[in-house]
Amino acid sequence: MNVLNSEHRQVIIIGAGSAGLTAAIYTARANLKPLVIRGSEPGGQLATTTEVENYPGFVNGILGPELMQHFEAQAARFGTEFRYGMITSVDFSRRPFRLILDDDQVLLADAVIIATGASPKYLGLENEKRLLGHGVSSCATCDAAFFQEQEVAIVGGGDTAIEDAIFLTRFCSKVYVIHRRKQLRASKILQERAFAKEKINFIWNTSVEDVLGEDEVEGLLLKNRETEETYILSVAGLFIAIGYQPNTRIFQGYLDIDNKGYISTLPGSTYTNIAGVFASGDAQDYVYRQAATAVGTGCMAAIDAERWLESQNQVAVTFSDKWGKLGTSN
Ligand code: NAP
Repeated sequence: MNVLNSEHRQVIIIGAGSAGLTAAIYTARANLKPLVIRGSEPGGQLATTTEVENYPGFVNGILGPELMQHFEAQAARFGTEFRYGMITSVDFSRRPFRLILDDDQVLLADAVIIATGASPKYLGLENEKRLLGHGVSSCATCDAAFFQEQEVAIVGGGDTAIEDAIFLTRFCSKVYVIHRRKQLRASKILQERAFAKEKINFIWNTSVEDVLGEDEVEGLLLKNRETEETYILSVAGLFIAIGYQPNTRIFQGYLDIDNKGYISTLPGSTYTNIAGVFASGDAQDYVYRQAATAVGTGCMAAIDAERWLESQNQVAVTFSDKWGKLGTSN
């Protein structure tokens, strides 16, 4: 790894969703001149949602992409720098930490805040993958308008599936919600709204066995899990809303990561098992997974990083005083 032309920062934040941008606002205001690596989905999950009604401070709700623009502008206002690109690998075995960008540039950091979030899960069907972008989508906000007056299905029973189903009714003539159980996982208020929509039809206890169609989606092969009966449902689109997978693969081997892929942190903090590396947002939170909690842990990570850097400076000063010359604590 050639570090001769590398760039060295006090704090590098990986990810520009609600956790990463909050960490940026706080570290920038602490004069730590953070660099944010924007990744493949700047704005994170909120950038692909519609109306956000439960983010405090917006009485009438706010559009997710607009909210994230505010976050980014606020971070920039205090001097945060942004870099396009993805971190493809890291070396946390020595300090400064090394991060490799997808253009092979090496970045050095005294402290790293991980805010890589989570990405949509897929069913794992071969034809789902083949028809992705040809009727299969994981983003209703992005793709609903392609299905004007058509019948579509959405799979999942959580908040995302139900919120997306309601959104899809603005465009589509009929929306089937296919759920593997009889009860929805979604919050009651969303359930009530969905049950009140005539265009939404629920298909319970059912799994999607295959996605049918040559060049674009024409239908689904469904299986009732109680009766084992299989049948074809004709739809022009399939939206996948079965949860998210944390984006933590590049940290495997360095950080403690649980069996679901979430980074383990010291309870009540954002400290990982490596001093100087902090984790926030959906990469670390397997319980709440809300914008408001991502903001909370992003803020915590910034404060943890600031205090940790401060403690390192104090150790370095003590070392220097003792030996009468400049030393480092490493
Ligand atoms: P989620 O809560 O994990 O729900 C995933 C849904 O997909 C569940 O109903 C699950 O079924 C189903 N599922 C999982 N794997 C499946 C598979 N292989 N085949 C078929 N179905 C499968 O995920 P989410 O809805 O994306 O929500 C993620 C987090 O974001 C949650 O904490 C949620 O509250 C939050 N969120 C909040 C809002 C809001 O407040 N407005 C909006 C969106 C998301 P089971 O129920 O049987 O497990």
